[in-house]
Parts: sequence; C-alpha cells; structure tokens
Amino acid sequence: MKIPFVSFLPMEKELNNDLRGAFDRVFTRSWYIEGEEDKAFEKAFAEYCGTKYCIGVGNGLDALMLSLRALGVGVGDEVIVPSNTYIATALAVTYVGATPVFVEPDIRTFNINPALIEEKITGKTKAIMPVHLYGQACDMDPIMAIAKKHNLFVVEDCAQAHGATYKGEKIGTFGDAAGFSFYPGKNLGALGDAGAVVTNNKDIADKVRALGNYGSDYKYHHVYKGCNSRLDELQAAFLSAKLPHLDRMNEERRRIAAKYTAGIKNPKITVPFVLDDCVPVWHIYGIRCAEREKLEKHFTERGIGFNKHYPIPMHLQECYKELNIPRGALPIAEEISSTELSIPMYYGMTDEEVQYVIEELNKF
Ligand SMILES: *Cc1c(COP(=O)(O)O)cnc(C)c1O
Repeated sequence: MKIPFVSFLPMEKELNNDLRGAFDRVFTRSWYIEGEEDKAFEKAFAEYCGTKYCIGVGNGLDALMLSLRALGVGVGDEVIVPSNTYIATALAVTYVGATPVFVEPDIRTFNINPALIEEKITGKTKAIMPVHLYGQACDMDPIMAIAKKHNLFVVEDCAQAHGATYKGEKIGTFGDAAGFSFYPGKNLGALGDAGAVVTNNKDIADKVRALGNYGSDYKYHHVYKGCNSRLDELQAAFLSAKLPHLDRMNEERRRIAAKYTAGIKNPKITVPFVLDDCVPVWHIYGIRCAEREKLEKHFTERGIGFNKHYPIPMHLQECYKELNIPRGALPIAEEISSTELSIPMYYGMTDEEVQYVIEELNKF
C-alpha cells in the first residue's frame, strides 16, 4: 500500500464540476479583481464564521500582518506569539516592525499555554496572537481574560483551523481580528494563494481593506502607505464552491482522527490530546515519538507519507538570530520540534488506509 501524507484528489474528484463551473463563471464575466465573486465569498465566509465582516486578502501571512497594522501595532511594540507555530505568525509581527515574544505551548495540545503568558508581558506588549494549531482551538477564556486585564489586542491565527470551535463558538470570533489562510493544503484551500481577515469591528475591517488595496479608500485616493494584497475573483469563486462542503469534510477528518486515537496503542507513541471545550478540525494529526528518526524510516519502508510540523523552532531559525534566544531557552518548542510526526490526514482517506497506518504504528 502507498499512502501519501496528503492528497487533494478525492476532494477534487467530487468537486470537479463545481470548480470548473466556478472558473467558467469568472472567465465568462472576464472580471478578475475586486468583483462579485470576492463580495459573495466574503459574505458567505463572514456568515460561516459568525463575524460581521470578512475581507479577502492575498494570503494568510498578509491577513495577520494587515490585522496588526490596522490595530496600529508597529515599531517598538512587542507581540506575544507561541513558540511552536508556523513561522508566518512571527513574520507578520516582524513585518509591521514589532518584535515577537515567544511563549511556550502546553505539550499535550501543542497550543500556547495561557499560564505562561503574563510573565512575558512588558510595558511594550501590544497584542497576543493565539494560533489554533493543527486544527484545535487555543484555551481562549484565560487568554481573553489576560488580554482584557492588560489592555492588549488579540489577533487570532486561524490558518489551520477553519470551522474549529471553543465552547461552541467558532474560532475567529474571539479576538479583535483573525487571519485565515486558504493555501491549498489548509482545510479550506483555494487553488493557489489566498487569505482573509474576519472581525466584528467596522474600523478594523475598513482599514484592513484599504491597507490591502494600496492604502486607498476610494480609487486614486490614498490614506495609508498600503500594499497590494487582495483576494482575486478566481480564487474567491473556487472558495465559494468549496465552502459549502467544509463542515462535512471536517467531520470526515474527525472520523479519521477518532480511529487513529482509538487504534494507536503503541506505548512509544503519544497521540494528540483534545481539551473538553474544543471541537478540532484536524488540519494535522500530530503524534509524538522519542525515536522519530526510526519511525520515519519505518514509514518510508512501508509506503506511508509523513511530515514534521515544525522541524526547527522559530527561535533557532537563521532569520531570527537577532533575537538572541539560545537553544534550550524554549525547551517545549524544542521537544515538539524533535519528536512530532504528522501522519496522513486528508478528506477521502479510506478505512483500509487508516487501518494500515494504525497497524504499522502499533508494529513499530
Ligand atoms: C499557513 C499558515 C500561515 C500562513 O498562511 P499563507 O497563506 O501560507 O501565507 C500562517 N499561520 C499558520 C499557523 C499557518 O499554518
């Protein structure tokens, strides 16, 4: 058997006609930027999330960066980010001129540990960026309480958790603003790069839209030194075709995850832990194993794909040398980076494939 780490084929086969229909609609209209498709998707996605506003942007990194800019976070400010996340979270902070301050995760959930946030707050701290990593919501109640107490903005990084809930509420509705990525591999993916900001605050929404459109509020009138980051019509049309299927496809991921969690019985392997209050969407099913290298070899020999999220923590990346954070300073992020293995997880995995992965993990 050969099982890839991820495959879009089952989904694309099912949605083939819808996606081709979306292309035809845009191509027939011959209008590619800032049009009906963009408006329609923004409306549908805001409704899906339960927020008042949605602004389509070019990608997830821009969604986070523009949210921070709209909130006035900039040079001299500090922003709390988890030490275990994709580097885009920290880069968004860097791009606006602020400094990322890393807070360690809870090793069981991989998400930022709220109990460790306050000790990192200084007079310069302006915002907290919780990342709902691998598809599970962060523990939002304590995070929002800390933000309120210290008067900090909250920008949620929702790039891996479209549709995940915390205490029955969708992620993206807790903070001042939230950034989504529609990178093809995300739970809701475009056929290229795309992203969105959702918020309930009209001023933030207007400012994000202007910032991503050359800083202009109306054509050829420029209020800010903005950039070009817009959701194009084709990607918006593809996303509109896929959105109605998101919940069903997330449910399928939950079914696969439940099989993994019940079936994996090898004491060498730690399966992911889900908080009582959370309904995750399993962007990634990340196990931990102290003998990861051997397990990688075992998987490769048996035709099972895998990935590592993420092999080098941000504070040890070349680009963040300037932060001067030595190895050993963030031991939980380092532990995750050296033990985490992401196993196959995608819509359309067959029961036989899931069973094969479980059996091979138990044999290891
Ligand atoms: C994918 C991702 C991003 C960035 O999204 P892009 O669309 O690739 O720019 C940001 N944060 C996290 C946690 C991600 O996984």
